[in-house]
Amino acid sequence: MLHIAIIGSGPAGYYTAEAVQKQWGENARVDIFDRLPVPYGLIRTGVAPDHQSIKGVSRRYEAVALSDTVRFLGNVTVGVDVSIAELEELYDAVVLATGAPNDKALDSPGEELGNVYGSAAFVGWYNGHPAFAALDPDLSGGDAVVIGNGNVALDVARILAKQPGEFVGSDIVGHALDLLAGSSLTRVTILGRRGPHQIAMTPKELGELAHLNRAAPRVDPKDFPPEADDVLLEPGQRKSVTHLRSFAAIPESFRADHPFEVAFDFFAAPRRLNGENGRVMSIEIERTRLDDAGRAVGTGEFYTIPASLVVACIGYQTSPIPGVPFDEAAGRFANDDGRILPGLYCVGWARRGPSGTIGTNRPDGFGVVEKIAEDVGQGGGKEGGEGFDALADTRGLKLVRFSDWQKIDEAEVKRAREGAPREKFVAVDEMIEVAGKA
Ligand code: NAP
Repeated sequence: MLHIAIIGSGPAGYYTAEAVQKQWGENARVDIFDRLPVPYGLIRTGVAPDHQSIKGVSRRYEAVALSDTVRFLGNVTVGVDVSIAELEELYDAVVLATGAPNDKALDSPGEELGNVYGSAAFVGWYNGHPAFAALDPDLSGGDAVVIGNGNVALDVARILAKQPGEFVGSDIVGHALDLLAGSSLTRVTILGRRGPHQIAMTPKELGELAHLNRAAPRVDPKDFPPEADDVLLEPGQRKSVTHLRSFAAIPESFRADHPFEVAFDFFAAPRRLNGENGRVMSIEIERTRLDDAGRAVGTGEFYTIPASLVVACIGYQTSPIPGVPFDEAAGRFANDDGRILPGLYCVGWARRGPSGTIGTNRPDGFGVVEKIAEDVGQGGGKEGGEGFDALADTRGLKLVRFSDWQKIDEAEVKRAREGAPREKFVAVDEMIEVAGKA
């Protein structure tokens, strides 16, 4: 029997468990650990609450979780409750599927001002992640600035631009919905340090901006390269740019009915955040141009725009774990195609950084299982889950099993507001109590 520990119950973790099942069937046992008492990682607390169809993938993970060879062990922080070395003693392979939960630093003066957030924190706030539920951003000003031209920037801009009625059917948490309902924002500026051809936004997500109740996107036609250059783009990117061109052509009559503006400011690199009484008020921007390698370089032209709220959506990095080799520059574990060392592996964003879709994690899981097979063959022979349970007992850990999560799930569904799929619990203590583990 092969015993495998997977740390992290998001997409990368569950796809790896699925790959283990396909490779070894009944001959392998998998324990999936999570520091939260609830599973699914980014599906629960990263994917936008108004993108419920994407969240539907968790049903596939549930099927894996309910099989006899896989266990969920929530409320266990690896590196605190149990060390990697201890897990390596107990399991034939330890796979880190811990994602990239920390914001990359903006490295601009003023970043520490009040009402300036990274996207991990801000997205975590409206998605009810226990670490960020108390964020309480101030939405009483008029101008939000979102930094970055990826899909997370789009998510944040869209959530800020929506009216409460547009969240029907979403699982946005009550505290965020209440605050958004009282928001005074009238404009979100999305800053891109490069141009329309260099965006990292995908067409479907970009297209949504044209269908909001009170908001309209705005793009300055002067920012585009000649239209003939669009054919040089790969098809997905071309579609995205076509959306941007259509935003630039939105007639004023439509804007009159959609006074909330989502304005794209391209070739715009944030250089300094200015504040008053510790709170951000404006952002100084340097106009950029592309160099021959396609990088943004400053032109020396500066301007300042108002900013009562700033959300930097510029990418994430993995949390280091004591004793595990880490690639500081790349912000992820040092690894060779998923192998950190024989017996210790990583998958998903912890392996390759924060890129790709949820589905990109599936081949990752299968790839790492090949590496495990090379290293341990059909071998095995370690204690596995029984050994961990004994250790957890001696440490008094309150393990949350999948059946306990099902109680939390049921309670969340039961207390949902009308039209919502669930109302999440946002405090770990509350989750533990509902799970009957207090
Ligand atoms: P991303 O796609 O890597 O985009 C990051 C953006 O930040 C880029 O436009 C980048 O510009 C910019 N940036 C980085 N450092 C900057 C700086 N110092 N100053 C100004 N701009 C800076 O990252 P993401 O949006 O966080 O998304 C992460 C992954 O999740 C992506 O693969 C994304 O597609 C995926 N995701 C998908 C969905 C969906 O499918 N609905 C939703 C959310 C996220 P440069 O290009 O110039 O570096």
